[in-house]
Amino acid sequence: MIEKRDFYINGAWVAPLTPRDCEVIDPSTEEPCAVISLGSAADCDRAVAAAKAAFPGWAATPPATRRAYVAKILEQYEARVEEMAKAISMEMGAPMDLARNSQAPCLPWHLKNFLTAFDEIEWVRPLGDHAPNDRIALEPIGVVGLITPWNWPMNQVTLKVIPALLAGCPCVLKPSEESPLSSMLFAEFVHDAGLPPGVFNLVNGDGMGVGSRLSEHPDVEMISFTGSTRAGKAISKAAAETLKRVTLELGGKGANLIFADADDRAVERGVRHMMNNTGQSCNAPSRMLVERSIYDAAVEKAGEVARSIAVGPASEEGHHIGPVVNKRQWEQIQGYIQKGIEEGARLVAGGLGRPEHLNRGYFVKPTVFADVTPGMTIEREEIFGPVLSIIPFDTEEEAIRIANDTPYGLTNYVQSQDGARRNRLARALRSGMVEMNGKSRGAGSPFGGIKASGRAREGGHWGIEEFLEVKAISGWDSAAE
Ligand code: NAD
Repeated sequence: MIEKRDFYINGAWVAPLTPRDCEVIDPSTEEPCAVISLGSAADCDRAVAAAKAAFPGWAATPPATRRAYVAKILEQYEARVEEMAKAISMEMGAPMDLARNSQAPCLPWHLKNFLTAFDEIEWVRPLGDHAPNDRIALEPIGVVGLITPWNWPMNQVTLKVIPALLAGCPCVLKPSEESPLSSMLFAEFVHDAGLPPGVFNLVNGDGMGVGSRLSEHPDVEMISFTGSTRAGKAISKAAAETLKRVTLELGGKGANLIFADADDRAVERGVRHMMNNTGQSCNAPSRMLVERSIYDAAVEKAGEVARSIAVGPASEEGHHIGPVVNKRQWEQIQGYIQKGIEEGARLVAGGLGRPEHLNRGYFVKPTVFADVTPGMTIEREEIFGPVLSIIPFDTEEEAIRIANDTPYGLTNYVQSQDGARRNRLARALRSGMVEMNGKSRGAGSPFGGIKASGRAREGGHWGIEEFLEVKAISGWDSAAE
């Protein structure tokens, strides 16, 4: 069994101040695969103190030097990317193909996009011709606390750590206790890249022990959080006393509007997108809204596609889906499936219990419900598992109304060949992102939501600006520049 009890603080691996072991469970086998430590408030304080001491030096480091350090992290990562894919696969259950082709490549993709955005930042710029002695300066906010979930572990670590470092902010990362191994490997890459001590720190722990201390810490200027709406609210409250900046990336309940003129592959694409990562993505298109004239055919197709999706252990090669992350998540998903049946939705594929060929591991059957009506529990709440709800609609207005009638607002999807309609819907849907006809968003596009999905924007220059303060200066001497 892997033993990784230490934390990375001030450029070195250090033992927790009070030992508190925590097993990491491989969700494919339900067996422990590693042991880590859960930190305490005192461990968190130690990391924050290291970050605070590093702040003046890191903030004063020329942007080009910070950029060079980040490029070195990328080199380390690319040399050991297979190790990263294996760590992610084991800790959270992504099958090796998915870990190799989608999960692990998140870092190089976002990191390169951040470097492009970084090169375009004007750190000090004139306000305008009307105020020749005014300057607008961008400055790092200070020590930042980064709290991440388990579902796309390196994606979320990258979207926080890399822009924080580029902006000049030393950080304390608390990865999810469910998926700490990938982050500890990442810390090795940072170490080998030679970053100055204290600039990057990692403390493992749970929400209560480390997450809440980080959120209330007087020397932490900002918390960047991705995870549940519940924890997002708790962090906002804990952070309020010190008035720190809080950026939240929370859950979602995305609608996928499929019109009668959608391309032939729209339904299949929607189902596969929903089931990807075993449904554990905040931007999953979990509500499929289908125009009445193609509804029956779409339901049949969706059932067929779901039944064709294989389920199996994460360690196996192939295009199957893996288990969900843990027992609690498995039980919650079963509860939602049960609720769907009780509330009168029509089960088209999947259902309760594990797939027949698997007798251990947190495996869920790819499940499709049809005839879901607005207001049913499975239509309202984020399930975070491979469960799709299909809802019929008659008019565009009705589709918009159903799509927008949710506490969430992360990503919505539209499938139609009518360009004018797509453009109308792109503006009418209440969400941070709208993706249409299967086109994913381009490099450097901001990721984030509105309402209960949080109000952060990660990626590209927006993702770097979250870590910067804007300073307005008058009386600037341009001759002395
Ligand atoms: P969570 O919000 O409990 O955990 C996410 C991170 O926050 C972890 O690092 C955790 O230790 C930390 N945390 C938890 N409570 C905290 C607190 N009070 N203060 C500070 N930090 C705290 O999420 P989870 O239990 O891993 O998953 C539960 C639900 O969260 C899922 O069912 C899903 O709905 C949602 N979720 C959303 C996303 C997303 O990307 N939007 C990702 C993961 C989970």
